[in-house]
Amino acid sequence: MPGKLYVVSTPIGNLEDITLRAIRILKEVDLIACEDTRVTKKLLSHYQIQKPVTSYHKHNEEVKAKELLSLLEAGKNIALVSDAGTPGISDPGYRLISLSQEKGIELISIPGPSAAIAALSVSGLPTSSFSFFGFLTKSSKKRREFFESIRESSQTIILYESPNRIIETLYEILEVLGDRQVSVSRELTKMFEETLRGKISRVIEILKQKEKIRGEFTIVLQGKVNETVVPKDIIEKELKVFREKGLSLKDTVKEVSRKLRLSKSKVYKEALKVFKAS
Ligand code: SAM
Repeated sequence: MPGKLYVVSTPIGNLEDITLRAIRILKEVDLIACEDTRVTKKLLSHYQIQKPVTSYHKHNEEVKAKELLSLLEAGKNIALVSDAGTPGISDPGYRLISLSQEKGIELISIPGPSAAIAALSVSGLPTSSFSFFGFLTKSSKKRREFFESIRESSQTIILYESPNRIIETLYEILEVLGDRQVSVSRELTKMFEETLRGKISRVIEILKQKEKIRGEFTIVLQGKVNETVVPKDIIEKELKVFREKGLSLKDTVKEVSRKLRLSKSKVYKEALKVFKAS
């Protein structure tokens, strides 16, 4: 009988975030395939689990997947874990899992934490439909092209980002997609856990005030919001009200777009018509 491959989620910081079933499975399997044996050994020793571990990481994934598959075919039960969270989610795992699936090995999920879902769950942004893109390419040009490609999507977007690039990435999003709502979670489940929510420009300001930006970041970004339909006569009335208060054209447009939740460009177009005519 071939063995089973258990895909086991482990904590993303706080060691208590592991299921009872995950602990039992880690105790029962013949072998634990992990990324960095030092990281996994800390978790195992915390739960007094003594099992052989073998490293399976992005640099040896291809060779190691075949090796582990032979063990599974020979009847060994293996647990696959990563350094943190769910294996295969921006972590090694896919090759072994897909190969096992092709060869008819039984795959069993032992679900648990993932930073993407944890960050989404506290973001305050719509959760009914979302896209996860993990880490973006390092090329600034390609990142911009990517943001262009999702401009029209109304889905909430989840991204992983490093502390070194978090501000740069937020600036790029701001430039390409506008000042949307964002929720930036740092160090979830750890001592310095923090989630910053608000317009992208505001979150950038807060991050820039920090002496040093540390930790692991997950960005949850609002999708495109369809503008509400506001009758033209209401826009016109509001424009006149603010203008009569003595505001400049620019400030009038700003105030009306804020009040009616419309884009500035739309209100500006109306303003040109209204004030040209009067
Ligand atoms: N497999 C993991 C999972 O399911 O969440 C993700 C692994 S990926 C290599 C690591 C990235 O996940 C980090 O760079 C960060 O973007 C995000 N991340 C991991 N732990 C986090 C945490 N505690 N708080 C916020 N983001 C975290």
